[in-house]
Amino acid sequence: MTPPTVLVIDHEPDNSDVQKPSILVIDDEPDNFDVIEALLSNQDYRLQYAANGSDAITLLETFQPDLILLDVMMPGIDGIEVCQRIKAMSQWEATPIIMVTALTNKKDLAQCLNAGADDFISKPVNRLELTARVKSMLRIRRQYQQLADFNTRLEAMVQQRTAELQRMIFQDRLTGLPSRTSILQTLAENLNSGESSVAVVMLDCDQFKLVNGSFGHAVSNQLLIAIADRLQQHLSPGDVLARMGEDEFCFLLNRIRRKADLEPCIQDIFRSFNTPFIVANCEIFISVCIGAALGDDVDQRPEELLQDADTAMYQAKVRGKGSYQLFDRRMHQAVLARLTLENDLQRALEQQEFILYYQPIVNLQTLKVAGFEALVRWCHPERGMVSPGEFIPCMETTGLIVPVGIMVLKQACQQLYTWRQRGWTDLTMSVNLSVRQFASPTLLADIDYALAETKVNPAHLKLEITESAIMDKAEVAITLTEALRSRQIQISVDDFGTGYSSLGYLHRFPVDNLKIDRSFVNQIQVGNRKYHVVDTIVALSQQLGLSVIAEGIETTQQLEWLQRLGCEFGQGYLFSKPLSAAEIDAAFPLGLEAKYSHLATQPLGSMKGVQFKPGQSSQEGSQKSGRN
Ligand code: C2E
Ligand code: MG
Ligand code: MG
Repeated sequence: MTPPTVLVIDHEPDNSDVQKPSILVIDDEPDNFDVIEALLSNQDYRLQYAANGSDAITLLETFQPDLILLDVMMPGIDGIEVCQRIKAMSQWEATPIIMVTALTNKKDLAQCLNAGADDFISKPVNRLELTARVKSMLRIRRQYQQLADFNTRLEAMVQQRTAELQRMIFQDRLTGLPSRTSILQTLAENLNSGESSVAVVMLDCDQFKLVNGSFGHAVSNQLLIAIADRLQQHLSPGDVLARMGEDEFCFLLNRIRRKADLEPCIQDIFRSFNTPFIVANCEIFISVCIGAALGDDVDQRPEELLQDADTAMYQAKVRGKGSYQLFDRRMHQAVLARLTLENDLQRALEQQEFILYYQPIVNLQTLKVAGFEALVRWCHPERGMVSPGEFIPCMETTGLIVPVGIMVLKQACQQLYTWRQRGWTDLTMSVNLSVRQFASPTLLADIDYALAETKVNPAHLKLEITESAIMDKAEVAITLTEALRSRQIQISVDDFGTGYSSLGYLHRFPVDNLKIDRSFVNQIQVGNRKYHVVDTIVALSQQLGLSVIAEGIETTQQLEWLQRLGCEFGQGYLFSKPLSAAEIDAAFPLGLEAKYSHLATQPLGSMKGVQFKPGQSSQEGSQKSGRN
């Protein structure tokens, strides 16, 4: 093969030459090239000559032309063919080609354009036309290149961002562990490949919020990294450890077929939390709850398996710190039942299916009704009356207790107003307040509104807060009780004795009444432990100026003992079960006086404790011993 006939006009291009636009002139007549060179001599271009099409094509790579001037009439491959071939190569298709031709009829020109040419110049070449067309084509070329560069940069940026997003989706930023999405994908791959001998082990730190609250975010983050490091030591080849959420991790353990294979792994994981974590010069002990599910079902979907492990972990959490639970099919039913209950409760609120029952609270000295406790009931369309033990815990987790609590308060206040208007003027109304309601930012405003709307005197309202709720949220409880007392609302500690059984904390809480839990009252017998506990509670309460209300009095004997101990108030089936407002109206046709006087075993007012003067009202009794 003969080497291409190349006439190099310029010296070796230096860097500044490279910047100059480069023009490849293809013409079988070197003279024509000379003419073009002369015509463009006052322009700053690099020119290159090729005597025929194949030389030109060979030159493209080395010369990298920005523009091609192409003679149409050439021996061998003519210009039309050369143009077609160049434009067919993807890397040169955008390089503008100006056909230089003596042919001027429309058909010939159309042929040039069809071959891919961008423009044409007629021979003999005129300086003005040549300069103008070359400039115009180079400008278009520049703009095209700028656009192409921009596109390339944009594409690189998109690729980089996509890679970052992929990393964010598939990797946890803090610990560098795979993410939830990543573990789902791996699990799907495992299950698709027919690998069902896999266990999903979900792990959640106990009371991590406490660490966060006490040490701050920076230390908590370091702790999470340390936990991740320690957990990674349990990985065998093929296993995966992912971070699922704040303090939640998940193992995918391979080759675990049975419960017995899994248990040693779980014990190992638990053991690794026996030693404290050293973070920011602090020793932090942390425990975890673990829930696990075995991929023993061939049809199982990855989301389901993760969900099962999650459900098991939730069960473990319910059992307490450091617990472990393996998923069991029956848990599905429990979860389903719970979801159904949540939906039903939401509907019940909308359909106004919650109603109030009222249980009399009796002055044990006068045996007159001193007030009522409002107790919510769910009037279920199919199940009939459902007691609060079945639905209040669920309402507390979903937060539904907040709107229902307000509804209860309003209804109870309305009822109190009605009864007081009727002439039962000494009556108080007790309403239970759930711990979840403490967290409601509108609680005080809601209470104020309910009182104002129902025209009830705040001093006639008693709010019952359980002892465990107070201890759970001590700081909130103090602020709340202070705010309530400043409104003259009375506070009762409900289920007293079941929580921390300590009278010590009572000076910190400005409360008015203690309600001794039913478990003490129904086992009370002269001289036994419960008897002494009740005796102590009554004696100390009197010193602190608190009233005591005994819950769950069922027998006259219990009543008698409580009277002897000087317990001021009581409620229980002995007097009455909780009743609807209409039933109360029917039960007290002659008013609240004298309803229970038949239960008196001793002359009224002669017992230990509060000195009762016949004729004194229960309200006066309550005020005497209250701390207000
Ligand atoms: P609690 O506030 O301690 O209410 C006393 C519970 O003991 C009531 O159960 C009452 O029916 C029952 N009781 C009263 N006397 C006797 C008796 O002599 N023997 C027996 N065995 N039981 C007696 P109830 O109505 O099922 O309520 C259970 C709990 O549900 C209440 O305990 C209270 O903590 C909660 N609750 C009820 N209504 C509401 C409410 O409107 N809001 C909130 N947050 N909790 C409520
Ligand atoms: Mg109560
Ligand atoms: Mg109670």
